[in-house]
Amino acid sequence: MQDLWQNCVEQLAQELPEQQFNTWIKPLQASFSSDFSKVTVLVGNRFKLDWIRTQYSKKLTNILSTLYGQSITVELALSPKEAISKTLPHSLSTENEFTYTTPSLVEEPTEEPFRNRLNPSLTFETFVEGSANRMARAAAMHVASIPGHLYNPLFIYGGVGLGKTHLVHAVGNQLLKDKPDSKILYIHAEQFVSDVVKAYQRKTFDEFKLRYHSLDLLLIDDVQFFANKDRTQEEFFNAFEALLAKKSHIVMTSDTYPKGLADIHERLVSRFDSGLTVAIEPPELEMRVAILMTKSRLEGSEMPEEVAFFVAKNVRSNVRELEGALRKILAYSRFNQKEISIQLARDALRDLLSIQNRQISVENIQKTVADFYKIKVADMYSKKRPVSIARPRQIAMYLAKELTQKSLPEIGELFGGRDHTTVLHAVRKISAERLQLNELNQQLHVLEQTLKG
Ligand code: ADP
Ligand code: MG
Repeated sequence: MQDLWQNCVEQLAQELPEQQFNTWIKPLQASFSSDFSKVTVLVGNRFKLDWIRTQYSKKLTNILSTLYGQSITVELALSPKEAISKTLPHSLSTENEFTYTTPSLVEEPTEEPFRNRLNPSLTFETFVEGSANRMARAAAMHVASIPGHLYNPLFIYGGVGLGKTHLVHAVGNQLLKDKPDSKILYIHAEQFVSDVVKAYQRKTFDEFKLRYHSLDLLLIDDVQFFANKDRTQEEFFNAFEALLAKKSHIVMTSDTYPKGLADIHERLVSRFDSGLTVAIEPPELEMRVAILMTKSRLEGSEMPEEVAFFVAKNVRSNVRELEGALRKILAYSRFNQKEISIQLARDALRDLLSIQNRQISVENIQKTVADFYKIKVADMYSKKRPVSIARPRQIAMYLAKELTQKSLPEIGELFGGRDHTTVLHAVRKISAERLQLNELNQQLHVLEQTLKG
């Protein structure tokens, strides 16, 4: 029966992105009950178990049942090793080599007083969750609740402006709230480099060590900046080892996954990757809408959903840019004492929108309309007939005729090979209804503005 499992794993290897497959599926082990009605899948730790339950267990059941030809129940369990270690009391080391405040440190005039450098506004409460960051957020919350335990180190990577810095501050702020005595430090990797250099020049490595090696939680941001800094890497390696040995937690961020880091020693890279490595992806449309609406509310203004949709469709790269757009809109609205509307957003973002040289394509129309009515893009080409799908499709045909230079037969072709008379019918129907139905007219207005930018 291991063949059955093997085949299931191979199928998942085909279906899932490599990183996901390697993190979640590859380490799994399975054993079948004697009548093959049940398979017990052994998972390395509790976080993974929860994750696999919510994200993959249905898929596993489906694949195994299909391969076997009969239904198989999938049960998840912790691997024996993990289960045993979980029953042992979790002992926090009490005999640190260093105590935190020694007289010499207090009296040392060159040493600034200890600051954790946390930004109190970057918390989990203000962090909007979406599928792009769900895993990273879940892992970060776990670390904040039981530091020094699982996923140590936690390595979070992703492109600029996606919320890495926010998330690591959130871990620190949460722990500080729950356990105010914790010794926490947030530091950007560049600052760490300069601390090393300073310690080197002033020959104060003992203090440096005291400072770093005694932390309960070290949050270190943008470790890609360690590239080519040999001395720093060595010191960081030492701090890293010391902290892990006394079960302090380390959370790191980077613009790439550990093995993708250039000019960082192999031994450090392999340490980075030895806990849990999670990615933050660029936010998808839904999340961009949620971020705009949430942040606007936090600023004391309500942004209507249609305006958020318009902005989210046009500002796609990252959260920082979304925040920039939001700031402009809010300022514009206050300054001109006007309600937030699509027109206002358009005026406020004029510069930003005009640099994106936009061409309205039928494909773009299909995607935008599908997003707006929350149906699949594939339904634009499908033969499905229910009104909930047929109507958005007609609306998209209408917009394609209105906003592009394409002929009716060309449009028909792009909508799954439909006849030009079908397109003509849709165009006439929607044009006529638009004059009568206020709600439809309003929706079309939002879509047109969104597409035109
Ligand atoms: P990174 O460190 O990945 O470059 P930041 O953490 O600095 O990104 O995020 C950029 C800005 O976007 C910050 O102001 C941050 O608060 C905000 N931000 C990013 N992701 C989210 C999110 N999911 N919810 C709320 N704000 C976010
Ligand atoms: Mg950052």
